[in-house]
Amino acid sequence: MSRLCVYLGSRPGNSPIFRQAAVELGTLLAARGHTLVYGGARIGLMGDLANAVLDAGGDAIGVMPDHLVEREQAHFGLTELIRVGNMHERKATMASQSEGFIALPGGIGTFEELFEIWTWGYLGLHDKPLGLLNINDFYSPLLTFLDNTVSHGFLGATTREMLLDAETPSDLLDAIQAQL
Ligand code: AMP
Repeated sequence: MSRLCVYLGSRPGNSPIFRQAAVELGTLLAARGHTLVYGGARIGLMGDLANAVLDAGGDAIGVMPDHLVEREQAHFGLTELIRVGNMHERKATMASQSEGFIALPGGIGTFEELFEIWTWGYLGLHDKPLGLLNINDFYSPLLTFLDNTVSHGFLGATTREMLLDAETPSDLLDAIQAQL
């Protein structure tokens, strides 16, 4: 039973598969006794995930900067909503609160969060597992690009291997849990 941080889209994407994956992951997190830590929004996949955790009887903690709360994008039904001053504080809080990290499909906000936490691991600032959900082949081009980055000598094979990936929420959670 751990706190797991999930980065994911503030938009729903254009296929119901993405929403289904978020709901499946949220239901599994609750069933396995994990607490969700995430960005605290009620919009897009973020809201779907948090609602699935809560609907299944689990705990969901949101971490949101004041300026986003004021834009009325916060989910006010969470177990806890931690308000912070800015985006930097938010990412540091999400990281320190969590024992592992998962990226679902999303946009540049999700990519930025995933790459930052991966870089912090690569620099030895933490030793926590991280992985992405390659649902609907969403992340396949990125995985190819990362392997290309290794081939071209800009990324070490060991660092590349730090980023887990799986095609179903259940397989991804198994892989993350094995490293907790
Ligand atoms: P994106 O993938 O660009 O939709 O951004 C989503 C990620 O960035 C989430 O994991 C959040 O932590 C953060 N984020 C971006 N936009 C918002 C928002 N409106 N409310 C809360 N968090 C957001």
